[in-house]
Amino acid sequence: MKSSRLRFRLIAEDGSARCAWLETAHGRVQTPAFMPVATIGVVKSVDPAELRSVGAELLLGNAYHLWLRPGPTVVEKAGGLARFTGWNGPMLTDSGGFQVFSLGSLVRVTPEGALFKSHLDGSLRFLSPEDCMTIQRQLGADLVMPLDVCPPADAPEEELRQAVNLSVEWARRSLACPLAEHQHLFAIVQGGVDRDLRVQCAQELMAEDFAGFAVGGLAVGESKEAMYRTVQLMADILPADRPRYLMGVGDPWDLLVCVGLGMDLFDSVLPTRNGRHGTVWTAEGKLNLHGAALAEDYQPLDGTCDCPACTGYTRAYLRHLFRVGDSLGWRLASLHNLRFLFRLLEGARQAIKEGRYDEYVAGWRDVLQQPGGARVPGRG
Ligand SMILES: [Zn+2]
Repeated sequence: MKSSRLRFRLIAEDGSARCAWLETAHGRVQTPAFMPVATIGVVKSVDPAELRSVGAELLLGNAYHLWLRPGPTVVEKAGGLARFTGWNGPMLTDSGGFQVFSLGSLVRVTPEGALFKSHLDGSLRFLSPEDCMTIQRQLGADLVMPLDVCPPADAPEEELRQAVNLSVEWARRSLACPLAEHQHLFAIVQGGVDRDLRVQCAQELMAEDFAGFAVGGLAVGESKEAMYRTVQLMADILPADRPRYLMGVGDPWDLLVCVGLGMDLFDSVLPTRNGRHGTVWTAEGKLNLHGAALAEDYQPLDGTCDCPACTGYTRAYLRHLFRVGDSLGWRLASLHNLRFLFRLLEGARQAIKEGRYDEYVAGWRDVLQQPGGARVPGRG
């Protein structure tokens, strides 16, 4: 069954940066958008109402993890992932290709699929692109990703080429699988930082009718220059009327650069993982919540932020929570980091609408750019 066309309506452009509405059966999403990662159906230690209150509109789940636990049938019987998790809003499920290939459990890749050992109990499992679509149909997320082959960043060219060829074939086979009416299948462009392979992969996928295009295989250890160059290449090639999703990127400066290059969707565990480890982003730079310097610091984490951590608590108290190891600290720091990214993108969308995106990015450069950071391609 062919699902209906995904509605993606561009509302403003500034250079290559763009704002759009993405309309799903579970609600509208403003892009550029960042997706908090709910790998196994939960954004660690944070509940859906809190996510909504800090500005989340689209959540990401992982088909591979949810297949192992609790199993797609449990989720399907609950009415789908949005209802099972209590989020009740737009969701995307990643296939889990990245997890199968990165957990070190891979046994063999054949044209039929991937044979690997479960990261939970070591049992031997087989996942085909068709299995992956069946699982995602049961999970019922609005946006769905095909199973792809994800070689490491330093893989030799021949391995990258085989990964591209197999990923394209698997994406085509995925397109032939039935989804629910409200679900839309994206394609994932692979090819490492190899220009020719990226172009070949994108062109072969663009010949098919995918609802959107993801750029996979970046932020896996390549240089920032190579990452930005590849993102720019992809944004220049991929169709303007479909959403472009840069997978696994969540560093605030990278978000600003890649929005500027024309990317629309992002996901990363960075804000919540950093939060649980006691590192937060603020308008003045990074802050380490374990630092003794905060022991009697009664300011909020970030005086410009309106999140629950900043409006209700002091740095001294948050440091105390981390010292005593209470989960409230993890939750508040996670919420703050998510709010930081959502506010950053709210500002980006406003700046795009007002035609001053370059100026907006320049205003963040000193706070967010790492020392010796890479030049932003095409934007001076
Ligand atoms: Zn805050």
